[in-house]
Amino acid sequence: MKALVVLACVVLAALATPTKPSLKEAKVVRVVPHTEEQLHHLHQLLLQGRYDFWQEPRGLNTPVDIMAALRDLPGLAATLSGRGLKPTVMIHDVGRLVEQQTVERLQHHTRAMDWHNYHDYNTINAWMAQLASDHPDLCQLEKVGTSYEGRTMNLLTVGSGGADKPGIFIDGGIHAREWISPATVTYMVNELVTNRDTYSDLLSSVNFYVMPSINPDGYQYTFTDDRMWRKTRSDTNSPFGCKGADPNRNWDFHWNEVGASSSPCSDIYAGSAPFSEVEMRVVRDEIIRLGSKIKVYLTFHSFSQLWMYPWGYTSALPDDWQDLDNLAQDAVSALTAVHGTRYEIGSSTNTIYAAAGGSDDWAKGVGGVKYAYTVELRDQGSYGFLLPASQIIPSGEETFEALKVVANFVKNTYSK
Ligand SMILES: [Zn+2]
Repeated sequence: MKALVVLACVVLAALATPTKPSLKEAKVVRVVPHTEEQLHHLHQLLLQGRYDFWQEPRGLNTPVDIMAALRDLPGLAATLSGRGLKPTVMIHDVGRLVEQQTVERLQHHTRAMDWHNYHDYNTINAWMAQLASDHPDLCQLEKVGTSYEGRTMNLLTVGSGGADKPGIFIDGGIHAREWISPATVTYMVNELVTNRDTYSDLLSSVNFYVMPSINPDGYQYTFTDDRMWRKTRSDTNSPFGCKGADPNRNWDFHWNEVGASSSPCSDIYAGSAPFSEVEMRVVRDEIIRLGSKIKVYLTFHSFSQLWMYPWGYTSALPDDWQDLDNLAQDAVSALTAVHGTRYEIGSSTNTIYAAAGGSDDWAKGVGGVKYAYTVELRDQGSYGFLLPASQIIPSGEETFEALKVVANFVKNTYSK
């Protein structure tokens, strides 16, 4: 009986949480462009910013997922069918799915960190502090900055070989709504630390520099106000009250040249200037401070199951792209071997439309990190950003195998 009352309270509390009206009966539809003209039209729609793109146009015969509020659906359907694009529905009612997942999350909620559930920013920070205090010889936690709204940003260093060892810089959560990213990053750190004897060889040869949630204000906002929020939460002086910039369009390398918007209301707003967003300056400064010790930069997003390398600002490839491709192939093979999850490895052939200002481009182009990757985690659109929590562990397991390949590569190549 008591359990029922508790459950009823949880459900009522969840239903009372204001779901943005725009999500109620909002749908995610998929179209697949087969001609250059269709692809161009979709790209124009993205830049216009009227619809929320869950998967941006990347190339011919590659799916594009678009969310539209109920009232905007007829308009979207008309503009798509005008170009001969036939939408199919991927998610019938985004609002209902968000509500269901909120109820589930609150039912299973514990303050302690685990990987059966998604956790908010404070829980992740508290878990990192605990890890550092439980394993002082392996983990160091440093406050490296403060977010726009005043949240502490920490860098967790995991390694036992000393500061001179080669390192891998890992970040997650740059886009607020991509919850599987911080969840997967923290899963991997937990695996390394709690099985430290198994990985002692790796841990004494390679340092892991980890920031699991580098858009703290946006991430927290997805727990409290808008599950579909993507950007930071800074003021933009927009007359419409639009907030935040796309932190992955904000880096100072070919900034705002292509595939980004100058409108503060756009989800791909590049910001008022390069590095206008304090959180990105914090991450940038850590990459600069660590300098040539960083051999690999990994930034985790969702979704689409892609393992991509620069450049994002142009379809041209870096001179050493073959090196990056080889390591990506090895990492993805190990990933797929775990649960059969297929990833595509990104190159210019499937990124006809460029997007400038991304962190991986900066890491390679300015930061001097040879192996810079953007990884788009699960899934391929069945749930998109609303990936069920039951997939955190499988995602963590498979991605950890890829990370081990990368770490062994760093150890064998750079560690003496
Ligand atoms: Zn993203």
